[in-house]
Amino acid sequence: MRAEIVSVGTELLLGQIVNTNAQYLSRGLAELGIDVYYQTVVGDNMDRLLETIRLARTRADLLVFTGGLGPTMDDLTRDAVAAYLGRGLTVHEPTMKKLEDMFSSRGGAWIESNRRQALLVEGATPLRNATGLAIGNALTADGTHYVLLPGPPREMKPMFDNEASEWLRGLLGPSAVLHSVMMRFAGIGESALEDSLIDLIREQTDPTIAPYAKEGEVIIRVSTKAADAGEAARKLEPTLAEIRRRTERYLYAEEDIPVEEAVLRLLVGHGRTLALAESCTGGMAAEMITALPGSSEAFLGGVVSYTNGVKRGILGVPEALLEGAGAAGAVSAETAAAMAEGVREAAGADFGVSVTGVAGPSESEGKPVGLVYLGLAERGRPTRTEKLQLSGDREGIRIRASKRLYYMLWLALTGRQ
Ligand code: ATP
Repeated sequence: MRAEIVSVGTELLLGQIVNTNAQYLSRGLAELGIDVYYQTVVGDNMDRLLETIRLARTRADLLVFTGGLGPTMDDLTRDAVAAYLGRGLTVHEPTMKKLEDMFSSRGGAWIESNRRQALLVEGATPLRNATGLAIGNALTADGTHYVLLPGPPREMKPMFDNEASEWLRGLLGPSAVLHSVMMRFAGIGESALEDSLIDLIREQTDPTIAPYAKEGEVIIRVSTKAADAGEAARKLEPTLAEIRRRTERYLYAEEDIPVEEAVLRLLVGHGRTLALAESCTGGMAAEMITALPGSSEAFLGGVVSYTNGVKRGILGVPEALLEGAGAAGAVSAETAAAMAEGVREAAGADFGVSVTGVAGPSESEGKPVGLVYLGLAERGRPTRTEKLQLSGDREGIRIRASKRLYYMLWLALTGRQ
């Protein structure tokens, strides 16, 4: 099945909002094994909408619309599809009731245009809107499938995931569904990882192997089409096993989670605690872990020790390490070790981990941009440090340094170091 995504909204054409819905839908359709050949953006204009439908029908079997299902006169998607097909609109009674109940409970005056949100193209299957009002539509006419979703992402995403996907699965039948495993790697760049798998990537047919790079992490999606999870597992396993064998030191998860989440799970699982001392990352590593629910079970706290004064005064890094002739300096293995030990002791944590480096754009202490030291102090074990030379701009270096900090901790927690 070939699909075209049609994003409807003049705001998109004016550059006032980013078309995140199209990205979300492309990914979701790919997961269903549906090829997306085109993404179109069209404004809130009836003639151009009709023209878009006409063109999309010549090159796709499935048209997925997002936007233009709201109450106002410029929300035209369902009218355009109905007009194109020569069909009328019918009222979806449960939505109508939901609208009326909502208005009477708020005590506001009924606005007739609200009714529009309860309208379905004649013959369409309603797609429930669990987080909003406008009802979605799914229908097949003259061999073309149409799915109409609302514009607000918080309505569109659950409607696609829970309602539209089911409808599409019904069309596809059992054997065409794509099953994927996300393999996530840290501590290795995209090209080095690809290099180690190059023969597998070149020879791939089924399963397929698709690498994606994120700042500081690499993801490989291994996919196959299968009737059920059991068949998919059988088809995927030999490829997964070979990738595992080659990348064991970098493969931290076989699900779509960031490295800090893998680390948090290990910390919680082992009943261990963590404190952070950050210089060049300015709290970014602490932000990454505290963004995860449940982080308080393992993360005790952190110090943003940006200046030498704070490194010395709060973390107890010796003055002689930081300043003066022959001193190692703030960006050094010695200082990273002292920061890690200092924060571990101050917080009473099992692990103290530190990062100090030159994020750029200009060098510091005569040290080059991208030079970063990590320190890892573990209760009852000798402190370790790691020297990195990272590439990228200031933001990229700060993200990579934070990710590498968690990678170092992952190595320690899994006994790989
Ligand atoms: P509403 O009921 O709010 O009118 P709608 O289905 O008519 O919903 P639009 O009016 O087209 O949708 O868009 C409503 C809002 O949804 C936009 O202001 C924007 O914030 C968001 N939105 C719409 N389309 C997209 C898109 N393609 N990507 C991301 N956000 C979008």
